Amino acid sequence: MWEYAPAPESRDIANLKPNYKMFVDGEFVEGTGEPLKTINPATEEVLAEVSTASESDVDTAVKAARKAYDRVWSKMPGSERAKYIYRIARQIQERGRELAVLESLDNGKPIKESRDTDVPTAASHFFYHAGWADKLGYAGYGPDPRPLGVAGQVIPWNFPLLMAAWKIAPALACGNTVVLKPAETTPLTALVLADIIQQCDLPPGVVNIIPGAGDVGAALVGHADVNKVAFTGSTDVGKVIQGQLAGTNKKLTLELGGKAANIVFDDAPLDQAVEGIVNGIFFNQGHVCCAGSRLLVQESIADELLEKLHARVSTLRVGDPLDKNTDVGAINSREQLTKIQELTASGEAEGATRWTSSCPLPDKGFFFAPTVFSGVSQAMRIAREEIFGPVLSVLTFRTPEEAVAKANNTPYGLSAGIWTEKGSRILWMAQRMRAGVVWSNTFNRFDPTAPFGGYQESGFGREGGRTGLEAYLDV
Ligand code: NAD
Repeated sequence: MWEYAPAPESRDIANLKPNYKMFVDGEFVEGTGEPLKTINPATEEVLAEVSTASESDVDTAVKAARKAYDRVWSKMPGSERAKYIYRIARQIQERGRELAVLESLDNGKPIKESRDTDVPTAASHFFYHAGWADKLGYAGYGPDPRPLGVAGQVIPWNFPLLMAAWKIAPALACGNTVVLKPAETTPLTALVLADIIQQCDLPPGVVNIIPGAGDVGAALVGHADVNKVAFTGSTDVGKVIQGQLAGTNKKLTLELGGKAANIVFDDAPLDQAVEGIVNGIFFNQGHVCCAGSRLLVQESIADELLEKLHARVSTLRVGDPLDKNTDVGAINSREQLTKIQELTASGEAEGATRWTSSCPLPDKGFFFAPTVFSGVSQAMRIAREEIFGPVLSVLTFRTPEEAVAKANNTPYGLSAGIWTEKGSRILWMAQRMRAGVVWSNTFNRFDPTAPFGGYQESGFGREGGRTGLEAYLDV
């Protein structure tokens, strides 16, 4: 019944044969918005031209989702919904290589990350939520919790497939239908996911995917027939959406920016901590909402740690995202590269000490060498603002109390890391961190069973785990 696309053997985009139209009511259709060109950030060449939605297309997609909700999806037993969601999970695995290549081409992330993190974690999100679909009565929200209706979902460019999975899987498991808008610079893997959804014979209209820019997102979240809005992106846009929805009865979850502290005590296993720090900030070029972008190191070991860190960061290979040996790929867009350059210039101007890896950079494309600032004070912009790039700001502390105070001295509150041998200190610190996720002796670990989300300007609501279901149920 299903025709599997062959896994691409080469980086030739022509082998991928994707369908770059909008996916509405079970069909790929031409949108009536202005087509957008998505760029390969490693070569600056146009990858594909993608059809986009206009406001009337948003309306058509929401109507399709409403019809599918009323007639089919909300009435279907959870055990049946589960079968569809399991199929999607298996198809993501089946087409894993195609998805990984396309994600690296469109986003710029190293293939070893899209292959080993983005794609398998996206599949595991569907597997996990398929398991909930027929067990919602045991989730603690009453024997027969109801879905909300049509979910309008807007996602960013840093984990294009994974963010789509985080949004779509729980919505479907709980019996909602979906209209999702991917980010304008990275729409391609969401459209392959649409192809997978079509191959899996999901009833038309259950999932609709409409590429476009912020105006399409605004039309979607503001649509009168959308019951639930799930947004992942910048704090600025999150605030706009919160204002836009004030006074409506739409349920809203916001997953926004971050400025996480990665805290290293003098008893930490230093080599292990260095690996965690590198993973914390250079994974995905630092385009990670929960990136460990502020390193807080205990003063007594600061020099030793910095020396080890520079040595380790010097070994990172920056370059072609499709090269299996690449550690740091391309910055997703020229706009983001400019932002990173501006913020690092401000770090120098404000008196921090800049260390930049001398690794060679490709001639073409948007690349930025891994950079570490030491001597950073809390008032500097590089200690306060989300850089969203491969740039680490190093601060020091003397006591655990000071570490807590500095870690929490941010308007954000998404994640934190604690490196120490003492279990009691981990618990003491974790209780005092204003962060939705606290990792200890590790960093950037994601698991669909664990709720993820922020405090303060990092947003509200949780994705993943039992708690994440709450966002898609009428509890
Ligand atoms: P962004 O806010 O610029 O865009 C995010 C999405 O919102 C895009 O699809 C965009 O087209 C859309 N959009 C823009 N204006 C809109 C509007 N007025 N109404 C509705 N939609 C609109 O963010 P970005 O630059 O794509 O992503 C980077 C940001 O995302 C960072 O701040 C990062 O921390 C955050 N992020 C957070 C999480 C999390 O889980 N907390 C995860 C990933 C990324």
